[in-house]
Amino acid sequence: MWFPFAFGFLFFALLFPWLRATLQILVLTGINIPQRGRIFRFSEELRLWSMTEVVVIAGYVAYYRASISSTVGLQTGALCYIAVAIFTWIGDHALDRRSVWNSILPDTIEYPTRHYASCDVCELAALDRRPGDYCPRCGSRLDRPIWPRYIPAAAAVVAAIPLTIPAYSAAIMINDNLTGVLEHTILGTVQLLADRGYWEVGVVVLVAGVFLPVVELLGLVWLLARVRFPNVRGLVRRTRAYRILHRLVRWPMIIPFIAALAAPIIKFHGIDDIVAGPGATPLFVIIALLMLAIRLFEPKLMWRTAGVPA
Ligand SMILES: [Zn+2]
Repeated sequence: MWFPFAFGFLFFALLFPWLRATLQILVLTGINIPQRGRIFRFSEELRLWSMTEVVVIAGYVAYYRASISSTVGLQTGALCYIAVAIFTWIGDHALDRRSVWNSILPDTIEYPTRHYASCDVCELAALDRRPGDYCPRCGSRLDRPIWPRYIPAAAAVVAAIPLTIPAYSAAIMINDNLTGVLEHTILGTVQLLADRGYWEVGVVVLVAGVFLPVVELLGLVWLLARVRFPNVRGLVRRTRAYRILHRLVRWPMIIPFIAALAAPIIKFHGIDDIVAGPGATPLFVIIALLMLAIRLFEPKLMWRTAGVPA
């Protein structure tokens, strides 16, 4: 039961952010190390999957959720982690990616007079390469075919839909204390938080645990359907919608993280015993599938099937 959390937590909260920070340090300080473009591409790829700020918000909610029955002090390690999350967030918003790419290999300045093979990842137009060659800057494939990723993206969404039933009807946390066994579904947790006066935390759980996954799921179905049933109208709107979905897709992860963080805090006291309920694993899998679908989906496909060159 705990395996998916332990796995997810280890990778999303620790290994990916750590690896990403190491790669970024290599790219941004290393004057001219070989494969600098490739390293920067990998570090950008890890951006979606490293979730320090999600963990911090989850920790904040878990702390309040736990303080209903017990009090836990913030340890130095937690404060260091919060500091890392804040620096990562500032770094991500301050980093000028175009100038990093340009420092690795400058963009082509002349206006293209014919079709150049170009790179999806770093947007380099390579004058002397052919489609399918490696990008001279970041090592990705030039003019990469985007159709092969459509079926896996659709499959991930289809697999996520039936999992919504156990995720929302079963308990996400089971609190086995002296007075009895309390089971909390996601909506039950929202209710509990609101009843105890932590309504602002309840709103966070409601938005991240219920509203966002539903919006992501419906949004992805809509975008995937528009590839099959193209419409020239609304292409820009749908591409913007994709970017918003891409930005928000990781945030529902705070719910499994809350369950994961709340459990050891309360176990420490020995009286209350919280374990992840049967609904926690399907929820974790749904969010991971939605992230995968967002990552695989390519909005260009909507433009291509609508007959608009993009
Ligand atoms: Zn490239």
